[in-house]
Amino acid sequence: MGWHEHHAHLFLSGARERVEELFAAHLPDFQTFEPPQGTADPQTGIGRLNAWIRNFFVPILVQYPDWTALCTQAALEQAVKDGVSRFEASFNVGRDPDVSEEKFEKVLCGIMQVHAQTAPELELRIDLGFERPISPENQLLCLKKHLRFAEKSPQWAKLLYGIDLYDVEDAAEPEAFREVFETARNAGLRRKVHVGEFGTPEEIRHTVEVLEPDEIQHGIHAAGSPDVLKFLADRGTILNLAPASNRILGAMDLSQKPHPIRKIFDAGVRFTLSSDDFLLFGASISDQLKELTPWFSDLEITQIRQNCQTF
Ligand SMILES: [Zn+2]
Repeated sequence: MGWHEHHAHLFLSGARERVEELFAAHLPDFQTFEPPQGTADPQTGIGRLNAWIRNFFVPILVQYPDWTALCTQAALEQAVKDGVSRFEASFNVGRDPDVSEEKFEKVLCGIMQVHAQTAPELELRIDLGFERPISPENQLLCLKKHLRFAEKSPQWAKLLYGIDLYDVEDAAEPEAFREVFETARNAGLRRKVHVGEFGTPEEIRHTVEVLEPDEIQHGIHAAGSPDVLKFLADRGTILNLAPASNRILGAMDLSQKPHPIRKIFDAGVRFTLSSDDFLLFGASISDQLKELTPWFSDLEITQIRQNCQTF
């Protein structure tokens, strides 16, 4: 049975070596990257991640007209290699609602074509990603553009699955994206939100109360509050955890005892493991399951494995 990947960022999910091969370019390893002084807030791992994207990903890859298709190809190849059977991955919904139809459709058609050619057997599900620091109004208009495209393209309608909210957690209050989430709900889309990666358990609870997501990306900091864990367990909210990402970005001390994921498990909160950004963190779902083995019994690991294959 294959993995169900719930939390991946499409263009950042290929293996670095494969991306380098496809673009005939060198990409510095994120894990040893130190942002030049003054260019990123060293307190936040997201600042470091954004600095790497700004310094390398954008200037080296985004200059190519077909960069989205090539990055998608690397991502789908990596998913297949790890034994993923259902791949839910996000990319930015867009910032410019007035972008030309030609440019807009080119990216979506490129993704559909790569999927059909590279991994037709892989069930691909697209989540439209919303960036907290960017105008919610413009992104809402872009969402409506995607929904209109799905009405005329059955192939795109089949791939379009959900939405995801991400980027620096305190860049906007969840209230700013309420209309986006309502529109997505009315369109039958699955709703996910990045929260509790760096933020507090109370921020997780507040975001869930305001946006009513189906799933949370990360949410690892819920481990710090038995109350919030109970709230999530009672609600049946799924956390799509990515411990390798947390470790590499310094989002959480994972050497503490008991392990935060142990607390989440013991509280009865449903969770999966996910790769987040394989290009940066280099850890697949299989790798991360291995990372958890010292903290769980064989029987519990079997249960976590099954959850990663069935949720
Ligand atoms: Zn993420």
